[in-house]
Amino acid sequence: MTKYYSNNKEKRHKTWDNLKKTYKYAKKQNKEFILYFIFNILLAVIGAIAPMFSAKQLLKLTDGLLNELFLFTIVILVIELSRNLCHFLARKYSQIFAAEVLKKIQIDVAREVLKIETSDLDKKSSGVFIDRLIKDTGRIADIFLDLNMSITDFITNLGILFAVFMISKLLFLFYIISIVIIFVLEKIRISEYIKADKKYRKHAEVATGLISELVRGVRDVKVLNAEEPFMEKISKDVSNLNDERYNMGKIRRTYSLLNGSVRDILDFVLIVLAIVLITNNYLTISNFVIVYMYRGKIFNLLTLTSQLLEWIKDFNLSAERVFEIIDSDVFKKEKFGTKHIDQIKGDFEFKNVHFSYKDNQEVLKGISFKIKHNQTVSFVGKSGAGKSTIFSLLAKLYVPDKGNIFIDGININELDCESIRGNISIITQNPYIFNLTIRDNFKIVKKDITDEEIIDACKSAKLHDFIMSLPDGYDTLVGEGGLTLSGGQRQRLSIARALAQKTEIILFDEATSALDNETQQGIQDAINEMKNEYTILIIAHRLSTVINSDLIMMVDDGKIVATGTHEELLENNKDYKKIYNMELRKR
Ligand code: ADP
Repeated sequence: MTKYYSNNKEKRHKTWDNLKKTYKYAKKQNKEFILYFIFNILLAVIGAIAPMFSAKQLLKLTDGLLNELFLFTIVILVIELSRNLCHFLARKYSQIFAAEVLKKIQIDVAREVLKIETSDLDKKSSGVFIDRLIKDTGRIADIFLDLNMSITDFITNLGILFAVFMISKLLFLFYIISIVIIFVLEKIRISEYIKADKKYRKHAEVATGLISELVRGVRDVKVLNAEEPFMEKISKDVSNLNDERYNMGKIRRTYSLLNGSVRDILDFVLIVLAIVLITNNYLTISNFVIVYMYRGKIFNLLTLTSQLLEWIKDFNLSAERVFEIIDSDVFKKEKFGTKHIDQIKGDFEFKNVHFSYKDNQEVLKGISFKIKHNQTVSFVGKSGAGKSTIFSLLAKLYVPDKGNIFIDGININELDCESIRGNISIITQNPYIFNLTIRDNFKIVKKDITDEEIIDACKSAKLHDFIMSLPDGYDTLVGEGGLTLSGGQRQRLSIARALAQKTEIILFDEATSALDNETQQGIQDAINEMKNEYTILIIAHRLSTVINSDLIMMVDDGKIVATGTHEELLENNKDYKKIYNMELRKR
């Protein structure tokens, strides 16, 4: 990031690059932008001529020319009404423009976040994405409006400066010197402010991540009785954030005092200078009144320039953070092949697969096995042995360090995303249920699903009767904001979703939590009904689940240590027999 701004040329190049990237999103909104531009120019012209008329109005009043005063007052009224109308229209088109651009950038960022490799997502807090998606995109979307506004204002004010030059060279010189003084002050302020802002955004990401964790994990925090330590962590992060916010406020406050005082002194000098010029007949009173009325605009010229520099720096900071997600290699994107299979058979093979989440900590240590389509295969073994990791690799959530995975004889690396994920469903222990109605939870995985298909899937997953017992049936809102489902119901809904998707391979991570017998039986029945029609892989925590499997694989410390049917393992494998007997005793 420091390299990013290493020199001015690179800075300009980067700004240009970021502007070009942003323009991609603004291209289709050209009409609104042009209208905004036109009304902005009109505003600028009105802004330039209005003080002239006000000055004349004042002079007519002091000269007692009441008829002319009335005329000027009418002209000023027309000018001001036009100004209001232009302002209204400029704002209208700028809002349409900014909203459309923002929408497009946000959709793009969201799409790109979904493409980031799981291993990279594991490393980042959710705050990194939330802040960039919400705040930084907003700052980017406004840049063209900001630039346009500054440029039109800048041009108007330059025109005014030229008018002063025509009226009095000395006053012109005075303004130029004033501009330089304030500009230097502003430049120092901005560079300090941007430094603080960079730090602030880093802290904001951490705090947003923690707060989103708090919201999602509030139940666990309570159950773990971890309120105090969690609050300590939140207080630390929030106070870091607020320290930085205070620091930014301090910079703003200090420079505003300095800036305001310098302007007051310059005002004083201007009047003194005017008195000298008027008494020596170098300046008429009426010309001075005009110049004096313009002074706010002239000082604005440099406020505008410095504001523009601030906006550009701010824009670059946000653009850097947003485009880091969209098109840099800071976040690695998932890579897929180009081969497409519509309907896979469901055979697959692991060939000497090695995998580690972190360097030098191998979780899978040379896994090899073959599974034929429509087989039901169970994986058993201690917790942490690597069973779920096998599932994750099969769905290409992670990529093996060594070895290969084949689906229907084709290397998974050659297949496109749809061929892999469109044909595999994973039913986890705690499946994610969207905060939508039951029906929409199906539509989100299969857009054109019919009501009959949904009902059929729920019947097979032994969930239909429960749904029908709810007052709103399939239109019941589930998840966060609605009915909260039990662990067993979530799994059955997830099974129904998989059935509705009609994926050929179903990976099922059996719930370890003690589900009541009826629920367990319900899930078991649902799986039994799918048997022989789908390739089903189960991570089994109870051996009672695996008895009917065509094949059982025992996983230990990242290796497959035994393979066979229930009967074969019972006869040949001491460990399997021991676990089975222990479970029998528990029943
Ligand atoms: P199992 O399903 O057999 O209980 P897992 O495949 O979930 O085992 O985990 C195997 C090992 O990998 C464990 O030591 C676990 O801590 C580690 N592990 C699992 N997921 C991650 C992850 N996302 N990041 C780092 N380590 C992980």
